[in-house]
Amino acid sequence: MSSKQKRFFLSEEEIPTQWYNIQADMVNKPLPPLNPATKEPLKPEDLFPIFAEEVSRQELDQTHAWIDIPEEVRNMYKYYRSTPLVRAYGLEEALGTPAHIYFKNESVSPVGSHKLNSALAQAYYCKKEGVTNVTTETGAGQWGAALSYAAKVFGLEAAVYQVKISYNQKPYRRLIMQTYGAQVTASPSMSTKAGRKILTEDPNNQGSLGTAISEAIELAVSTPNCKYTLGSVLSHVTLHQTIIGLEAEKQMQKAGEYPDIVIGCFGGGSNFGGIAFPFMRHNILDGKTTRFVAAEPASCPKLTRGVFQYDFGDVAGYTPLLPMYTLGHNFMPANIHAGGLRYHGAGVIVSQLLKDKLMEAVDIPQLETFDAGILFAKAEGIIPAPESCHAIAAAIREANKCKETGEEKVILFNLSGHGLIDMTAYDQYLSGSLQNYVVTDEMVNENISQLEKIV
Ligand SMILES: *Cc1c(COP(=O)(O)O)cnc(C)c1O
Repeated sequence: MSSKQKRFFLSEEEIPTQWYNIQADMVNKPLPPLNPATKEPLKPEDLFPIFAEEVSRQELDQTHAWIDIPEEVRNMYKYYRSTPLVRAYGLEEALGTPAHIYFKNESVSPVGSHKLNSALAQAYYCKKEGVTNVTTETGAGQWGAALSYAAKVFGLEAAVYQVKISYNQKPYRRLIMQTYGAQVTASPSMSTKAGRKILTEDPNNQGSLGTAISEAIELAVSTPNCKYTLGSVLSHVTLHQTIIGLEAEKQMQKAGEYPDIVIGCFGGGSNFGGIAFPFMRHNILDGKTTRFVAAEPASCPKLTRGVFQYDFGDVAGYTPLLPMYTLGHNFMPANIHAGGLRYHGAGVIVSQLLKDKLMEAVDIPQLETFDAGILFAKAEGIIPAPESCHAIAAAIREANKCKETGEEKVILFNLSGHGLIDMTAYDQYLSGSLQNYVVTDEMVNENISQLEKIV
């Protein structure tokens, strides 16, 4: 028996001072993002019109494994970090598994999810470079809430395009953003060229992260002193999220264990990469054999059923071409409650790692994710975000395998956020009206066949 201690923390001095850039240690580097006009590999300067310069450099950095966290950002991290590493004794007991289950609780951030880890960094770099306004997109509202607060911290104005279905279904997140002082618009909207095009072709379009990204980028490039920020998918976002795994590594040491399996839910890859990459480093460099499992929704299965090829990050085709696992940039996922996971593609680092079999992916039907979330809530007291329920469901699958084989594996998953503002989803589950959405091969193939072959 290991210690009965339930929660593991770090002192302020122990909070990491650097983020980890796995690109530097990867044997096969991600293929370069391409300029969509010239098809030439992107240079950091190509990104300067859209993003802060420092994050543009971080995005393409394949040489520096360790990147200093600015003191101003680390000071803000201290408002809520370290986040607890928790041994899930309650869940272990409920499952009757010999596995040791740990979770990293990112839901304790002021905005309720891991998203603030990157929002603070991005807002800080914008401020430092003389930017006055930031734009972004948001799905369920978690990224928008994080950016709205981070903008306020560093004295910036924030304009957020929120996916229309979420804007209407989840008014509380809109109100959180507005409480922090952000201007929020439902996307697609008539305020941009991209939005007008989508709405004239399909007036009932309920939006997706892709449509909202197109609108936010258009506003950023057409407004002086305004930069765009992104809460997922891109490599610099995942870089900032490695604070999760770096803390977890030290906390697991305090618990006297090392994970056999590390699990994260998967939208674009930032919380998964954030918890996984610091441990994956030891697989690459020190011969450890930890398994890494990304848990995606069955209704948006880019890792398990998408193709690896160059594609745009948004519907309108404004972003660079990224070498990614994708369902096609015009893929419209079903309106599942895990809004943060309704995205057509995966980040370039994770895509390369999956291609090279350094990690695995599972797709999970919506009902199973809520079964898992409710079991977790009863066992551990925390009501998880619908996104995080995917990680919990994947952890439960692994813990149940251990029950069959009697193996005492150590499972670590990331609890990316709480679900206290997603109770309509729980209402539907409890009243029996929640359903699974199936994506047919025809839908996947049809979408993918429309993609232009670049390489
Ligand atoms: C945004 C979000 C996700 C998905 O984004 P990733 O970049 O894949 O991490 C997962 N969980 C929560 C709570 C989120 O807000």
